[in-house]
Order: sequence, then C-alpha cells, then structure tokens
Amino acid sequence: MKANINLKPGIINCMNAILIHQPNSLSLVDLPVPQPGDNEVLIKVMASGICGTDIHIFQGEFLGGYPIIPGHEFAGVVEQVGARITRYKMGDRVAVEPNIACNNCVNCLNNRQNFCLNWTAIGVTRPGGMAQYVLAPENAVFSIGDLPFEQGAFVEPLSCVLHGSQRARLHMGDRVLILGAGPIGLLLLQVARLQGAASITAVERQPARAMMASQFGAEQVYTELDMLQPAGYDVVIDATGVIPLMNRTIDFARPGGTVLLFGVPPSGKLLEMEAFKIFKNGLTVLSSFTSVRNSYQAVALLSSGEVDVARLVSHRLPLAEFQHGMQLIEQGRENVMKVMMVPNN
Ligand SMILES: [Zn+2]
Ligand SMILES: [Zn+2]
Repeated sequence: MKANINLKPGIINCMNAILIHQPNSLSLVDLPVPQPGDNEVLIKVMASGICGTDIHIFQGEFLGGYPIIPGHEFAGVVEQVGARITRYKMGDRVAVEPNIACNNCVNCLNNRQNFCLNWTAIGVTRPGGMAQYVLAPENAVFSIGDLPFEQGAFVEPLSCVLHGSQRARLHMGDRVLILGAGPIGLLLLQVARLQGAASITAVERQPARAMMASQFGAEQVYTELDMLQPAGYDVVIDATGVIPLMNRTIDFARPGGTVLLFGVPPSGKLLEMEAFKIFKNGLTVLSSFTSVRNSYQAVALLSSGEVDVARLVSHRLPLAEFQHGMQLIEQGRENVMKVMMVPNN
C-alpha cells in the first residue's frame, strides 16, 4: 500500500511532470507516480531549481537521452520508502545528490565518482525533479533537517562550487577574481570568503547582480574586464561559461597563479589562450566537473547559514510555467537569479 498518496483502489495514481520529448519540445504531462524499488526513496518535490543544464538538455546539447523529466536541483519530503531503506522514513525532509555513481568502477574506486563509468543522473538520464514526485536511490538522499526546501534545492549547485573551490586550492589571504555574479558566481564568492580570501573582486555587468556581489562581500565590483589589474589575482574563477571571457582569464592571474574555469561553456567551441603566457607565468588552469562527496558539507553550510542562498531565489513558479522559467533565465534580465519551480503548491 502506498502511504499518503491516498488512492482509491483501481485508480492509477498520477502526477504532473515536465517531459522533454525531444530537443526544443516539452509539455506538462500526467504520469503514474513511480513506485520505489527496494533501495529507493520516493520524494514529493517541494522546490526544484532551474539550472543552465536543464536549458542545455532542452536545447539538445547535453548528455542524456529523450524523453526525459529534467530537474536535478531539488528538495522535498519522503513520501514512500523501498523495502531495504534504513535511513529514511515518510515525512523526512531531504535533498538529493543527482549524480549517481556505481562505486564499483575504476574511477569510483579511485575516489573519482564524478567520472563514474556507469554514471547516471537524476534529471539528466533518469527522471528528474521537475515533477510532483521523483525517485532517488537511498545513498543519493541527504537529510536537510529543518532547512527550507528552497534552500535545500541548492545542495547540488553548492556541492559543485565546493568541489571547484577544492580544485582551485584557495588559500587564506588570496586575492580572488570572479567573473560573473549569477547564482553560481555568488556561491563561489561566499565560499571564497569562507576560505579566507583577503579580497574578492567580481566582474558583472548587470547592476542588480553587481549590487548583490557587493552585498555578499566583494570589495570591488567592475563592469568590464578592462578595469581589472593585469596579473593582479592569485585565483581567477570564470563563472560565466562565455568563451571570450574565459579566454581572458589568464591575463589576470599572477605568475604562479590559478585559473578555474567553472562556468559551463557551450559544447563544440574552442578556447583561444596564449599558450606562451600560460607557460611563462606558470599558471595552473583547472576545470571542475560536478562534485565528489560534497553534499554533507553543502547541507552543513546551508544549515548553519554560513552560505546564504535565501536571497538568490528571484522567482517561484508552478510546473506549468517551466518553459517560461527557462526563458526568464535565458533572457538574462537583471532581476532574474535562481528560478524555483514549486511542483506541489
Ligand atoms: Zn545544476
Ligand atoms: Zn563507477
């Protein structure tokens, strides 16, 4: 018997979900509520953030197949648990690490779960959180205690940011430059601050975002790269994924400094950087792909308030407005930060 879904016998239990049928085609559909397998948890989705990755999937640029229910940044309430679930029960408040590793391949066994050879991901290759209910394996589920659901939906993006900051080996006293002050740039900014950056400079053209960067503690916020001090920063982080900006990152790292290319660029495009400059300045140029066991850390930082995401949510929309939500992000209007879908309102 399904707990708490209240079905009359013989009637299939339905839920609303956004289904991307193929690139550039989606609709709000009725689907049966999935039933958890022995090791799975059924989650009632209370908040589900739209991410650039969802837009990539919609546009046909990403890793999964179709049709797919998008949504990999979400939190909710445990609705039903499989027979072997031990850590969760109905009513628990949880968030999900959507990237699921097999823990049994050469990469997993070398602590590189983000490159699991049998990788799957909720909202990318498995049905995601742009639905009223979603399944997750127990080991991908994290308790969020009394953290608001909307903030729980940041566990995944914050995990990625924490992994990026580990990759960049931020040191106390570093002068950090961050290109882009969208939701991800502002998470990077807060984490850099927590790690003891001596100064943080942000580059952001949109006034509202620039204002938030200063509110979150950036000492300098510029609108143009040309206002920056060449070779003036220990760590330069791109949070835009915009190729011409990524190309310029190496101009601003000091000799021996680090460049972290964090923003997701379009696929198939080439960088153009002066190889000799990277050589002569002994630069470390890094990327960062998803996260590796950063979810507990993310929940802890959100729960303690050390990382503040409440101010990053600009819109709350019902599922039916998912496409509108993507358009808001794509149009890049300045008042648009994180757009949260609320599937069970
Ligand atoms: Zn995401
Ligand atoms: Zn694996």
